[in-house]
Amino acid sequence: MIIVLKPEATEQDIQHISGKLQENGLKVHISKGAERTIIGAIGDDRVLAGLPLAIFPGVESVHKILQPFKLVSREFKKEDTVIRFPNGVTIGGPEIQVMAGPCAVESDEQLLYIAERVKSAGAKILRGGAFKPRTSPYTFQGLGEEGLHHLSMAREKTGLLVITELMDPRDLPLLEKHTDIIQIGARNMQNFRLLSDVGESRKPVLLKRGLSATIKEFLMAAEYIASRGNQQIILCERGIRTFETMTRNTLDLNAVPVLKSLTHLPVLVDPSHGTGRWDLVIPMARAGIAAGGDALMIEVHNNPEEAYSDGEESLIPDNFDKLMKECRKIAAAVDRFIAE
Ligand code: PEP
Ligand code: MN
Repeated sequence: MIIVLKPEATEQDIQHISGKLQENGLKVHISKGAERTIIGAIGDDRVLAGLPLAIFPGVESVHKILQPFKLVSREFKKEDTVIRFPNGVTIGGPEIQVMAGPCAVESDEQLLYIAERVKSAGAKILRGGAFKPRTSPYTFQGLGEEGLHHLSMAREKTGLLVITELMDPRDLPLLEKHTDIIQIGARNMQNFRLLSDVGESRKPVLLKRGLSATIKEFLMAAEYIASRGNQQIILCERGIRTFETMTRNTLDLNAVPVLKSLTHLPVLVDPSHGTGRWDLVIPMARAGIAAGGDALMIEVHNNPEEAYSDGEESLIPDNFDKLMKECRKIAAAVDRFIAE
């Protein structure tokens, strides 16, 4: 439920309404705009139906949030969410951010070389998996904690922000120490325990769409995180399973404008996993920006032939330079920009 207050509503009115909602076991989110205050009440619809909110002092109107996702919906918050990092980097504003790096952290030299190359091309965020969700238990599973130390080192040496995947809630304190953004992978999109735990973290979360998740399920997963208090969520379209076999997944670019209309959260496009083919990454990165994406995630490897994972979809650094140049033109065409 959204309770819109009159411009003249007082602090006392706000306290009175919030108190009544909380007494009834509802969660309260207050957003104070320049003109008026809006109170979001989240919880059991039956309890809400029993409260005569419209006649409370200071209340102008009461609206039901029709979507099953509440906190993440545009109905709840009209303005785009912009995630701001202490070094000034933003995700969700006019600047399009690019996260780039290897699928997996393989060594400190590999990571540092790629980090420097993607930085000089204009990326501000370094990606790299330390805990890898692999289909086969016999393939490389990631360097684990050692990989996190390499990420920290690269962050310190380059000033790039760092993102890496969390697979197990027990590793959350470690990730909080070594990374700036926590990634929840496609295979864990509905791991509700993991979602609730990152919902209690103060770090921004990149939530990847599940391999066969509908947009509604995707947003309900985001709602799990938001409902625990963390609303710094970036949604990632990374391709879904279809009957098509020419590509690893089908990058669902419809999802970008659909998400932008349903939610205030920033949307990121991952054409690397979305296609599974390095030769399709540049065109689909361009398309992702044209469709309204706020950010990109791109896998880059110095030697894709020898990569421990996802070599077939990784760009060599020279091609990443090309991607950035081409994407800058598309960004300008849609009134956005990618910094040099
Ligand atoms: C990844 O980013 O390397 C990854 C494993 O992605 P996804 O969860 O989208 O498969
Ligand atoms: Mn990968």
